[in-house]
Formats: sequence, C-alpha cells, structure tokens
Amino acid sequence: MAKQIVEMLVETATMELPDVKTLHLKWPEGYDADFKTGQFITVYWPHKQKYKRAYSLSSCALDRGFFDVTVKRDGKMGTSIVDWCDAGDKLFVIPPVGKFLPAFDPPGKHLICIAGGSGVTPFRGFVREATRRNLDTRITILYTVRTTKDVIFNEEFRQLEKENPRVKFEVTCTRLAPEDPWTGRRGRITAEWVKSFIGDAANTVFYACGTNELVAATEHLVLEELKLAKEQMRTEKWG
Ligand SMILES: Cc1cc2nc3c(=O)[nH]c(=O)nc-3n(C[C@H](O)[C@H](O)[C@H](O)COP(=O)(O)OP(=O)(O)OC[C@H]3O[C@@H](n4cnc5c(N)ncnc54)[C@H](O)[C@@H]3O)c2cc1C
Repeated sequence: MAKQIVEMLVETATMELPDVKTLHLKWPEGYDADFKTGQFITVYWPHKQKYKRAYSLSSCALDRGFFDVTVKRDGKMGTSIVDWCDAGDKLFVIPPVGKFLPAFDPPGKHLICIAGGSGVTPFRGFVREATRRNLDTRITILYTVRTTKDVIFNEEFRQLEKENPRVKFEVTCTRLAPEDPWTGRRGRITAEWVKSFIGDAANTVFYACGTNELVAATEHLVLEELKLAKEQMRTEKWG
C-alpha cells in the first residue's frame, strides 16, 4: 500500500466549466494506491510546499493509474489550480484518506446525496463505481446550482442515469432568469423536496458535500426533522 507522498504529472487539465477544472494526475511508475471511492487527496505545488489543500477524488477506486480531482476557482489554491495548472505540470500528492464512503455493503441501500456547486465531485465516483459493478444500490443525487450553466459533469451523470436505472440525477437552479427555458426544478433544496425521494427511510443513507451551510442544513433535516440515526448521515465539509 503506497502511503508515501509522491510527485505526480498532470497528464491532462480539462475545463469542465469556465471556473471548474479537472486534473488527471498520473501515478508514477511502480505506484499502486489502495484507496476507496469518496476519499480525498491533498495536493501542493513543488514551489509552495507549505500550502496544502484537500480535493475529493472525482474518479472512483476502480479507476487505476490516475487520480482525478475537480477544482473550482475559489480561494488561493482553487484559483491557482484553475488559472495556472496545465498538462505537463507536477504536483505533490498525499495519498487518499477519508471516511466519506458510499454504503455499498450491505447491498440494497438507497444513497441520497446532497450537493452544492463543486460538492458534486465525489458523487461522480459513487455513481461510476455502482454502475460498473452493477450494484443494486440506489443513488439519488440532489444537486443545487445557480444556473444550468453551473452543472458539473452534466453529460456524464445523464449518461450514467441511462446506463443505470437505479441512479437519479436531480438538479435545482437557484438563480435562473424567470424567462429561462429550463423546465426542471427551481429554488433551494427544501426538506419537502428531499423527503419526496425517500421511500424506505430506515434503508436510506444521506450524504452532504459542499459548504458548511449546506452540510449543516442537511444534518438538521436528517437528524432533527426526520429523526434518523447519526449512522445514516455522512458529511464532507469544505468550509
Ligand atoms: C475534504 C475536502 C475535500 C475538498 N474537495 C474539493 C473539491 O473536490 N473541489 C474543490 O474545488 N474544493 C474542494 N475542497 C476545498 C479546497 O480544499 C480549498 O479549500 C479550496 O480550493 C479553496 O482554496 P484555499 O483553501 O486556498 O482558499 P483560501 O484562499 O484559503 O480561501 C478559503 C475560502 O475563503 C474565501 N476567501 C479567501 N479570501 C477571502 C477574502 N479576502 N474575503 C472573503 N473570502 C475570502 C475563498 O473564496 C474560499 O472560499 C475540499 C476541502 C476539503 C476539506
């Protein structure tokens, strides 16, 4: 199991949106990581070794030979990556850790994954793994964005929805112009909206990833309103 810090080549750097970039970090020769879908790596620039930041894997544990992370232009590190990081650059990577793991075992669970903005990135890994392994886990992603232009991985999630009938990708837009042709949901994530996707509450595990505000609101809903057990709630706070 590789736990050493390694320097990785940025093999590709892809703009997903004007302010969101995916880095495809190639494992060096002989490197082999033992990690789980939903974990995060910590990265830093060779010339700024004291400034380290965490990024959730947007790839899954079945993806071998590379780590994908998807970064929003936000703050110092987010801006330096989105504006400056290109294919051919090198970054130091602290191997994956974290407990924000999909509940695939025991089988048959329903995962309700609540995300805001770039907080959707680990859920791409969840859906990829469940689909490739043909698991009977249901995954419902409830995703809040400002406008339809802010949906990260829209095409891939729509494709995975087609491939895997147990996956639902539900988007709600908070700042669309009234005349926008979007026929989907508008407005913030509400308790009623979340509740409408819960079938068997006892068999459901809730995930929330993104700002502290979004995570706290989800915790309130699950623990206070629905009165479910703490074990049914997993969170990843980004600040
Ligand atoms: C486990 C984990 C996983 C994460 N995964 C991802 C991921 O997959 N993708 C992703 O994009 N991010 C992710 N993050 C967030 C990421 O680690 C960075 O925090 C983010 O990129 C911002 O970079 P920074 O910390 O250098 O920002 P900083 O410069 O330290 O700023 C932190 C925040 O404060 C705000 N800020 C900074 N300066 C000011 C100011 N003067 N006035 C007001 N506000 C200010 C910034 O806008 C930013 O939101 C994750 C965080 C954690 C803990």
